[in-house]
Amino acid sequence: MKTSTKAQIDVVIVGGGPVGLMCACELAQSNIHVIVLERRKERVRHSRALTLHPRTLEIFAMRGILDRFITRGYPLSTAHYAGLETRLDFSRLDTPFAYTLFLPQSITEEILEQRALELGVEIRRQHQLTNLQQTDSQVHLFIENETESYELTANYVIGADGARSLVRTCAEIDFTGSPSTFTAMLGDIILTEPPAERFLQFYNAHGSLLMMLIADGVYRFAMIDPLRYHIPPDVPVTIEELQASIKRITNQTMSIQHAGWLSRVGSTHRQAASYRHKRIFLVGDAAHIHFPAGGQGLNVGLQDAVNLCWKLAAVIQEKAPLHLLDTYHVERHQAGAVLLKETLAQVHLLKDFTESGLALRELMSTLLTIPDVNRRFAEQISGMNVVYPPLPILSAGSLAGHRCPNVDGSLLTGQREQLFTIMQHGHWVLLICGIGKNESLFAQLQPIMKRFQLECLSVDQFPPFLQSQVAVLIRPDGFIAWNTSDESSLIPNIEKTLTDIMLP
Ligand SMILES: Cc1cc2nc3c(=O)[nH]c(=O)nc-3n(C[C@H](O)[C@H](O)[C@H](O)COP(=O)(O)OP(=O)(O)OC[C@H]3O[C@@H](n4cnc5c(N)ncnc54)[C@H](O)[C@@H]3O)c2cc1C
Repeated sequence: MKTSTKAQIDVVIVGGGPVGLMCACELAQSNIHVIVLERRKERVRHSRALTLHPRTLEIFAMRGILDRFITRGYPLSTAHYAGLETRLDFSRLDTPFAYTLFLPQSITEEILEQRALELGVEIRRQHQLTNLQQTDSQVHLFIENETESYELTANYVIGADGARSLVRTCAEIDFTGSPSTFTAMLGDIILTEPPAERFLQFYNAHGSLLMMLIADGVYRFAMIDPLRYHIPPDVPVTIEELQASIKRITNQTMSIQHAGWLSRVGSTHRQAASYRHKRIFLVGDAAHIHFPAGGQGLNVGLQDAVNLCWKLAAVIQEKAPLHLLDTYHVERHQAGAVLLKETLAQVHLLKDFTESGLALRELMSTLLTIPDVNRRFAEQISGMNVVYPPLPILSAGSLAGHRCPNVDGSLLTGQREQLFTIMQHGHWVLLICGIGKNESLFAQLQPIMKRFQLECLSVDQFPPFLQSQVAVLIRPDGFIAWNTSDESSLIPNIEKTLTDIMLP
């Protein structure tokens, strides 16, 4: 084994799963030098996640890559909640993408990898992190591939290395939570006599079975059998036990012709006590794990990536103060905690097959027929109701921390554009409204826009959520940083706010 020399890199991302690849895309589009280390030779063929939720689709729209996903998947306007009979209705959500996109995780990863390569990211496959140490100014990574072990030195490291994250262990970040209390059986099967329906659902005192057609003849199933749910996750699932459980729960015989991926998944839920330790950050499953209820893990991980990377890029390029990085933990740890609590509630509903458990399910299902209740749950699962604490700036405004909906408007050149479209390069956007064609204001804005790489969109009429505002400042991740309804002193206030967040 030979040892090669050290290198100096802005960011090393450990883990080339979906969240690591998203981080790579976000940083590379801001011209940050990134290397991705991935221990696997190839992408995993089977798919864990199958859904991309509305907020994730909005993010892809903001980066100009949504079509790549839309053309490979198909929209579903409803989603199940804990397998209850009443489904969540996404079609009433306030977004251009009021549906969940059915798309296997393997395709999501393929698209993100392609995008990262287009942006010039170096992805080192079969390179495994074996150890990591940080000083005040750098992080040293120890890596092995097939032929050598070597070291890299980076300014920052992102741990996107999944549930058993070595980055998290080396950074001595606690992963707190509770162990699994039951297991579910999951997998992809081909039946000898396929049913006529694309989607089947059984739930009764014997257990639960959800089945969904995911490819030609292939059904994804998720089954909870109370007679078998104490079997630990590392015990392989056999076709014989599957068939026996299916028979018990459905009272039908389903003959399995072929089983592809089969797995036993536990209900362990854990969250990293801190998403940052000095120069090391955790994202995705390295930061939070939970029972895969509601199809949220991948989606929340992608949202971690987008939250972190504009801040990290700005700090590396000396466009923002170091303390901006603290807001990553503040904002995303809170979102992760809500996710874990919400999936715990689903777990409770999913695994209780007693008389009282079934009664609770019926009650919850009835509650979901109330449109406002249904919408509240749909907003939670789809990532649409995340609200961050305001950034540490004075007078951030009443809407600071909220997601900004897409709006139409005119650039200062007069060209019509949409908010999501002009966010493609990850810049800040200033929305102004009700000011008309104010040439003097526009002239004063020009140098500020140049200095802070700010885009400006003049909107004829704000949607109800933004009504009564005259200016709204949008962060590169689509959340509102500052808003005002006061037209006087607009220019100095915008300048002051940007200077508080970013370095001039
Ligand atoms: C059965 C199931 C169904 C699911 N369904 C959904 C769903 O419908 N919707 C949803 O949003 N989520 C779903 N999830 C969750 C989703 O799959 C995960 O949240 C997602 O894969 C997390 O992505 P990640 O990039 O953080 O981690 P991973 O996908 O685990 O990627 C981590 C990567 O790091 C690499 N790595 C690890 N250690 C090292 C090392 N030392 N050196 C180099 N590389 C390393 C690994 O090889 C891996 O490629 C589901 C999960 C399961 C189990």
